[in-house]
Amino acid sequence: MADQASLSTVGHLSDETEFYTPLPSGYRIGQTKYVIVFGTVMSGLGKGIFASSLAKVLKDGGLTVAPIKLEGYLNMDSGTLNPFRHGEVFVLDDGMECDMDLGTYERMLDQNLTRANFTTSGQIFSRVLEKERRGSYLGRDVQMIPHVTGEVKSRLRELAVASGADVIFVEIGGTVGDVENAYFIEAARELAFEEGPRSVCFVALTLILEPPTLGEQKSKAAQLGIRRLLENGIQPHIIACRSHNPITKKVREKMSLYSNVPFDRVFSMHDCESVYLIPKMLCENGLDRAVVEILGLEDRIDTQLSTRAQAAWDDYVGRFQRATTTLRIGITGKYTSVRDSYASIIQALEHAGTHHDVRVEIEWIDTSQIDDENAESALQHLHGIIVPGGFGARGIEGKIACVRWVRENKIPYLGLCYGFQMAVVEYARNVCGLVGANTTEVAPDSAYPVIDVLPEQKAIEGLGGNMRLGGRDVAIKAGTLAAKLFNNAPETHMRFRHRYEVDPRFIPQLEAGGMVFSGRAPDHPIMQVLELPPDRHPFFLGTQAHPEFLSRPLRPEPLFMGFIRAAVQRMQQADRHTCRA
Ligand code: GLN
Repeated sequence: MADQASLSTVGHLSDETEFYTPLPSGYRIGQTKYVIVFGTVMSGLGKGIFASSLAKVLKDGGLTVAPIKLEGYLNMDSGTLNPFRHGEVFVLDDGMECDMDLGTYERMLDQNLTRANFTTSGQIFSRVLEKERRGSYLGRDVQMIPHVTGEVKSRLRELAVASGADVIFVEIGGTVGDVENAYFIEAARELAFEEGPRSVCFVALTLILEPPTLGEQKSKAAQLGIRRLLENGIQPHIIACRSHNPITKKVREKMSLYSNVPFDRVFSMHDCESVYLIPKMLCENGLDRAVVEILGLEDRIDTQLSTRAQAAWDDYVGRFQRATTTLRIGITGKYTSVRDSYASIIQALEHAGTHHDVRVEIEWIDTSQIDDENAESALQHLHGIIVPGGFGARGIEGKIACVRWVRENKIPYLGLCYGFQMAVVEYARNVCGLVGANTTEVAPDSAYPVIDVLPEQKAIEGLGGNMRLGGRDVAIKAGTLAAKLFNNAPETHMRFRHRYEVDPRFIPQLEAGGMVFSGRAPDHPIMQVLELPPDRHPFFLGTQAHPEFLSRPLRPEPLFMGFIRAAVQRMQQADRHTCRA
């Protein structure tokens, strides 16, 4: 292991040195602890859920934590990725468009993250190339090791300085063995060497197969996966086995022997009903204590704090498990059947549902099949409808037909971003008499372009990272439904990701027709929340924002809470109706 004295020179390298590991100012070697999570066998094991649950448990004990995801792809961010292939694009308050796992971290940790918590290979390489052009490499050839791996270590250490966290949780994307992630693994090995003993805890998350035809658990693929990690110079401290059923003693023994990991540091992480049960599973099987021991953090854990935090969490989980009444919510959209594309909405519904003691059952509505004629048969059994965010023309006439039907039939409606814009188009057409009204995203030559490109967006070319993105203040109009939901606060803060807006020229006509704009940007005429008054509809509300990104299990998002409350009322009315009939 490197000793402290030799490492203290790491930031002051001579021209002759072979190595390139600059330390950010203010960084002290060995002060910050790191938990680094790798996946083996296959992707999609739930590394983010696992790492965030572990981070949460340590945070509950009073430690400060900061997660970071290292993504192998060359994109600069997730903004241009198709959610159908990669899951939803999660937007942070600072406008970073990132992987959906960052949403999992924010929800689990109840902590806002920034672009410092998300790194892609594209960002790493672009920083290296920028430095090369500036001549920062002092005449050397620029290499994967030490320059690119040095950049990865810098990102981790910069996060350590910026966050001041006790423990940094590093999630390495993909699977051990992927070419694009290999240098992240090498950087992790170097980091552990440089930081010294008890600074880094390596956790390998793996998969134990249970082929139904055999009826027993098989660990060979997992063994080979760990072997690859060992070949890369990484000896895991902990092995966490994903599996359908709890893993058997025999499998634990085999995993232990093949990977030099003591038997009691091989853990079962089997499937459970809700991701929010995982922190408890970690505590019950002692995985959190193993991490604390490996990193020497025993003295810094406050068990009283832990007990209190866990009681609040257990209360939430208990309510979720006890809720048996089913609330049926319809979600329209073209990414139907792929739950990952709407992960945050599904979570926000679960949070608000649990606080109302109901289970939310989601029905996906393919809007390409819906029109004014058949909307009733497709929607009448639902207790509430969401039209979520989206882009482009596909299925939009069907969405508009859905909005019309729920508006006219007083079914609770929540429009999110595109769903807000669809509500404006529908209202303009069917209430304000603006025949052919549309968004210019779909119909650039519409006679009534009620939704049009934001002025600042008109000059922008290309698609990456340039929408109106991230957290913005929203001024709330007193006396409205929105005001009630936000506890009469005059202002709130929400997250945005859009290129189009309500064209301000049409606002007077829409208002004259009865639409209420209850949330606006404080200093621009950008409409951010719309609603219909209570005498016209029990709950008809849309927002240009994405409130789903703000919902946390113990702090459900207010607009979702209002929507679920209204949907529960509709369900109760419908039940009374059936009882009487
Ligand atoms: N396509 C719309 C816009 O760009 C809505 C975006 C969204 O739903 N995220 O404004």
